[in-house]
Amino acid sequence: MDISPPVGALDIVQCLQQAGHQAVFVGGCVRDLLLGIAPTDWDVATSARPEQVRQLFAHTVPVGIKFGTVMVLNPEAVEVTTFRRDLGSKNSRHPVQVLFTDSLTEDLARRDFTINALAWDPITDTHIDPFGGRADLTAQLVRAVGDPMQRFYEDALRILRAVRFACRLDFDIESETWDAVISSAYLTDRLSKERVRDELLKILAVPDPGRGLWMLNELGILQRIIPELRGSERLAQGKRGAPTLLDHLIQTAAACPEKPLLRLAGLLHDIGKLTTRQITSIGRVVFHGHTQEGARIAGKVMRRLCFDSKSIAYAQWLVQNHMHQGEISRKVLRRWLSAQGETWIRDLLALRKADHIASGGSDAPALSKAEADLDAILANEQVLKPSDLAVDGHDIMKLLQISPGPAVGQVLARLYEHILENPADNNRASLLDQAERLWADKQHFSR
Ligand code: ATP
Ligand code: MG
Repeated sequence: MDISPPVGALDIVQCLQQAGHQAVFVGGCVRDLLLGIAPTDWDVATSARPEQVRQLFAHTVPVGIKFGTVMVLNPEAVEVTTFRRDLGSKNSRHPVQVLFTDSLTEDLARRDFTINALAWDPITDTHIDPFGGRADLTAQLVRAVGDPMQRFYEDALRILRAVRFACRLDFDIESETWDAVISSAYLTDRLSKERVRDELLKILAVPDPGRGLWMLNELGILQRIIPELRGSERLAQGKRGAPTLLDHLIQTAAACPEKPLLRLAGLLHDIGKLTTRQITSIGRVVFHGHTQEGARIAGKVMRRLCFDSKSIAYAQWLVQNHMHQGEISRKVLRRWLSAQGETWIRDLLALRKADHIASGGSDAPALSKAEADLDAILANEQVLKPSDLAVDGHDIMKLLQISPGPAVGQVLARLYEHILENPADNNRASLLDQAERLWADKQHFSR
C-alpha cells in the first residue's frame, strides 16, 4: 500500500519552506503513517501567518482564519494551520485566546495526546517528537500531553477523544490519563451537544464499539451522555452471557454492522424496558409496550443530542419495530419498501439479528427468509406506493355511486392493502371487482 503524501500536499510543504517558513505534516497523519495506516487527511502546520499562506497559493479558502487555518486547494484540499498557542479556557470548551507562535514545540504542546503531538518534515524525513509520541505508539498508549487534569479542564472533548483513539487504535489509556478522565467526566456536561453527538458517532464507528461503550460506562461518561440508561446496569435480564439490560444493549450495539446510527439504535433498542417493567399476577416479568416507549425515549435522547429529524425517525422506527422475531410476510416487506425503503429494512433485519445474537441465539431462520424474500421482491416487482394504485377516487365514486367522503379513502386504503398482498391485481378490472366485493361488507366503511 502506498501511503506517501499526495503530491499536492508535499508541494505545499516545499513551497512554504522555500519561502523561508517552517512547515511540517502534523497530527493524525503522522500518527497514522507511523502505524502503517493510510491517513484520511494531511494537515500541515507552519510558522507562516495565515495572510502569508494565502499569498503563496493561488487557491485558498479561509476556513478558520481566527484559529490560523487556511484551506489550500492544490488541487486536493489541505488544511494549513499556523503554529499556535492556546490560552486558557473558561468553560472547558474553547481557548480564551489563540496566539500565533514561531515555535513548533509550542504548537505540539497544545495538542491533546502524545500520539497526536507528532510532526514530520517530509523534505528531510525527520520526526519532531518532543512528548514521546513514538514511544507511546509502540507502547500502544493514549497519554495526554502535559497534565491530563488540566488538559481535560481546558477542553472536555478530549475526554471523549481519549476513548475514541483508544478504541479506534485498540490502545489502552495510560493510567494517569485514565484517572483524570474519571475525575473529569463531569466536565462533559459542559460540551455542546453537537460535539458530543459527533464524538459518540465516531466511537460507535470503530471496529469494536462494544469496547468503546464499556469504556464510556466504566469511566462514568455513558450515563452522563444518555442518562436514560441509568438503572439498566441493575435490571436483570436472565439472558445467556448478558446478565443485565446494559450488557444486552451494549452487546446488541456491538453486534450491529459498522453503521454508527444503527449501532445507536442497537444501544437504545430496549431502553423502554426500564419504565415498562411489570410483574404479572403469576410472578412473570413483562415489558408491555416497551418498543413504543423505547422509540419515544430514543427520540428524546436524540433530540437532546441535536440529531437531525431524519436520523431520529430512522432510529425510532428501528427501535419501534425491533421486537418481532417471527416471520415477516411479503406484504409487510412491500409496505415497508414503499414507506421506509430498502436501506431501513436491511438495517432493521440487521438489528433484529444483532438482538438475537446478543440474546444468546445463533442462526435466525425467520430473518434469513425475510432477507431472501426482500431480494426476490426487489428483483421481480415494482415497489407499489398508494399513489400507484391502478384506480383512483373518481373510479371508486363512480363505481359505488357514492359522493366524496371518508369512505372513498377507506376503500382505496383497503385496495392498497389488497395489492400489497397480491401485486398482480394492480389493474383496473381486478381492483374494481375487489372494490365491489369490499363494499358489500358495509360495516367496514363510514357512510
Ligand atoms: P482523525 O483521523 O480522526 O481525523 P486526527 O488526529 O487527525 O484523527 P482531528 O480531529 O482531525 O484528529 O485533529 C487533528 C489534530 O489536531 C489532532 O491530531 C490533534 O493533534 C489536534 N487536535 C484536535 N482536536 C483537539 C483537541 N480538542 N485538543 C487538542 N488537540 C486537538
Ligand atoms: Mg484529522
